[in-house]
Amino acid sequence: MGVFDQIVGQHRAVDILQASARSPVHAYMLLGPPGSGKRDAARAFAAALLCSQGGCGTCDDCRAALAENHVDLSVHRRTGQFISVEDARAIGRIGARRPVKGLRQVVVVEDVHLAAAAAPALLKSVEEPPARTVYVLLADWLPSQLAPLASRCVIVEFTPIPEDEMIDILVSRGVDGSLARDIAKVAGGRLDRAELLVDDPSFSLRYQLWRSIPDRLDGSGATIVGLARELLDACDQAIAVLKAHQAEEMTKALERAEQMGASISAATKEIEDRHHREQRKWRNDELRFGLGVLAETYANSLRTMAHARSGRVLQVIEAIDQASRALVRNPNESLLLEALLAQLTLIS
Ligand SMILES: [Zn+2]
Repeated sequence: MGVFDQIVGQHRAVDILQASARSPVHAYMLLGPPGSGKRDAARAFAAALLCSQGGCGTCDDCRAALAENHVDLSVHRRTGQFISVEDARAIGRIGARRPVKGLRQVVVVEDVHLAAAAAPALLKSVEEPPARTVYVLLADWLPSQLAPLASRCVIVEFTPIPEDEMIDILVSRGVDGSLARDIAKVAGGRLDRAELLVDDPSFSLRYQLWRSIPDRLDGSGATIVGLARELLDACDQAIAVLKAHQAEEMTKALERAEQMGASISAATKEIEDRHHREQRKWRNDELRFGLGVLAETYANSLRTMAHARSGRVLQVIEAIDQASRALVRNPNESLLLEALLAQLTLIS
């Protein structure tokens, strides 16, 4: 079993990396949205570069590289908000070293899209590496300041994972087919998010909750208020999984900062801010997902409906769509849901 076998949904990128491992150039940039598997791919690529058999997956070199524990692999993860000029110089010093064990060393740098200010320093390192160093830079997107750097690298693009492929991946991991379909629908092409949802026992219940709304609306205001509260409670539950994941990340970052003697408050502040943004986005995504399920439930009822009522259902779907689009403005969620449910009660 080769080191690339575990990388899913990125056939093109894996083909390029696999071919590159045989005769690598000095710098690669893995470019694509978060959650598309760049980190795993970088580790696999490093293993392939350090393994005498091109990434067999079983030798000591492969195992150490996959665990980020190989003497000739260094992985740079920023501790501050950006990659600083100082960071970039330190990366350059590592790149200038000789390999300890094998014929080459691999220097992985994460979050290079956050290196705008350090771009010239990073460029200098990448431009003049010793022949035995391979840089692997990871970027979620490409700010214009990094164009010169990118032009020195082989760009390997990562794309969001298509829905049907995501379903196959999840099913191959033992996830039930219908759950896999539901998750793939809301994961937005991100395997990391899909994995969190698989671990989330309440996902199915939330799905059912949104689907039950049309049947439960009985024309009373009390029902509307109660339902809106239930939906928001479910939304809070959904975030619990993300929060647990974030707490883990925070613990690891603190350990790293301590090891490196970096400022702990600077490291935590940046991570807290990002976690807050992630939670906000997660909430919006969750509500948007729920509204999508709701619209789909009404749309399904269209098929079994006499012509006279189908016009109303279309109105309902339009109202749900409007509410979904309003989410980008960070509205008061209770008011938004109550207004929508009231509207649905009137129309349907
Ligand atoms: Zn190996």
